[in-house]
Amino acid sequence: MEDSERKMASLPRGLALLRDPQFNKSTAFTESERETLGLLGLLPEGIDSEEAQIQRVHLQLSQKPNDLEKYIYLSQLQDTDETLFFCVLMSDPVQFLPLVYTPTVGEACLQFGHIMRRPKGLYLSIKRKGRVREILRNWPQRDVRFIVVSSGQRILGLGDLGANGMGIPIGKLALYTACAGVPPQYSLPILIDCGTNNETLLRDPLYLGLRQTRPPIAQLDEFVEEFITAVQEEFPSCCVQFEDWAGTDAIRLLARYRDRICCFNDDIQGTAAVALAGILGALRTTSGKLSDQTFLFLGAGSAAIGISGLLTEEMMLEGLPAEDARARLWLFDINGLLETTRNDLADFHKPYAHRHSPTRDFVAAIESIKPTAIIGVSTVGKAFNQRVIEAIARINRRPIIFACSNPTSHSECSAEEAYRWSEGRAVFASGSPFSPVLLNGKTFVPGQGNNIYIFPAIGLAVYATRARRVTNEMFIAAARAVAERVTPAELDAGLIYPPVSTILDTELHAAARVAEVIFARGLARVPEPKDIAQFVRAQTYKPEYHLLG
Ligand code: NAD
Repeated sequence: MEDSERKMASLPRGLALLRDPQFNKSTAFTESERETLGLLGLLPEGIDSEEAQIQRVHLQLSQKPNDLEKYIYLSQLQDTDETLFFCVLMSDPVQFLPLVYTPTVGEACLQFGHIMRRPKGLYLSIKRKGRVREILRNWPQRDVRFIVVSSGQRILGLGDLGANGMGIPIGKLALYTACAGVPPQYSLPILIDCGTNNETLLRDPLYLGLRQTRPPIAQLDEFVEEFITAVQEEFPSCCVQFEDWAGTDAIRLLARYRDRICCFNDDIQGTAAVALAGILGALRTTSGKLSDQTFLFLGAGSAAIGISGLLTEEMMLEGLPAEDARARLWLFDINGLLETTRNDLADFHKPYAHRHSPTRDFVAAIESIKPTAIIGVSTVGKAFNQRVIEAIARINRRPIIFACSNPTSHSECSAEEAYRWSEGRAVFASGSPFSPVLLNGKTFVPGQGNNIYIFPAIGLAVYATRARRVTNEMFIAAARAVAERVTPAELDAGLIYPPVSTILDTELHAAARVAEVIFARGLARVPEPKDIAQFVRAQTYKPEYHLLG
């Protein structure tokens, strides 16, 4: 029996039904449902269509004074009527995604202890070490397919927010459904609470997390190991997405688990694939070949390492040996250019430390290395100043400039700065959204390298195929699929990503490509269908009410 059928058979009645977000239809319950399900008198006489309900949501949202209040309102809607929540989100992703995820979720995480209404998801506190499996059993759904788990230590670009980071797994999982139609009942947001080193939070009387500083790495790793083992035992078909862990934890844990269980890290692999999609889109504009480019990164953290790794793999697919591919990738961090004489580099940095004289001057590095693209993943707002943009624009007819750091205040430059200082020649994308720019009579539409282009597609493909592993090849397939969805007219306006308004179509296309890789590599746990795209599409969630009772 399907999970939804089982639930239908034991459908709650009366008030309990109105309080069940998965089955509640609120004012849209029909006359016969009201009769048979014990709802008479518990609802006003008026019966709404879904359209009327959406209209009411729009009205109520329009009366909220700011985006955080809209976030709170939508979060409560998710708690009471999940179908309506997703119906609203999917009716206009451009308007609503920024309210349930970036940029609003950043503010929501900062304020998490203050705006808390009803708890969502699971909190695994290190205080409960040895009892993780028991806690996982407290979750009512037994067939969990997606866990997004954060340690709360590196939330967006906002640093260590401890248990306040729970807003991220909640928001990410909502996007799996809203962008790619992954059925929401299979998802579980988890926050691993190991304390926080954020003094402000520790002093805040309304902070809801564990009031202690973070433990040594060995203790964290032991707890994560208990978590992973418990997930394998309790939810054997589950994919674990690591999200917003501190850079070195993220890299170490991904390396430990990627070949052992079905998991990925969106900050590393998802970001990398979004960047790759943008670069492939940009190369459609500049008519260049990936293996002819030279990249200089500002930042050498988890995002930079992930992007470099995926670029290496894609260049190798174009025929370059690994060594030659890496020679085209240069990284520059807080201590300057990564080069062979540096003695402060981690192992994962070393493949990108090439022979070069030491420098802490980014412009000097541009002039010497002559990159075709600069990629900002440094968390340092305005680091791509006029000197930087002019330097890269002097070397390239169409300089590729990506300012990926979030939130907007951390963006290495604005779209306007990139276009103005490059005399309109930049092929620009950013992590945070920027409005179109009018320069010398031409309107430039900047691309937003938003992770929502990739991870929901990976999620849908993994869900549909019950994949055993998530591989980089799957991310490359998703990136290529996204890049090929940009139309020539969109490229002409400066866009290198498809518009968010058509996100569901983009994700379905990308998910089908990812599923092809999953089947081709023998990673699926279901038989290969004749028409993979149709097979994937058939398993998507649709935010529609079903006749109950
Ligand atoms: P991280 O903390 O792991 O790495 C930051 C890196 O920047 C480090 O190597 C650090 O040495 C370097 N750095 C710091 N200050 C610098 C300076 N003044 N000059 C040069 N380098 C400096 O962070 P991360 O996980 O790699 O993320 C980096 C940024 O990328 C974040 O702002 C994050 O929001 C953003 N990001 C964007 C997306 C996206 O747009 N799709 C996805 C994930 C992360």
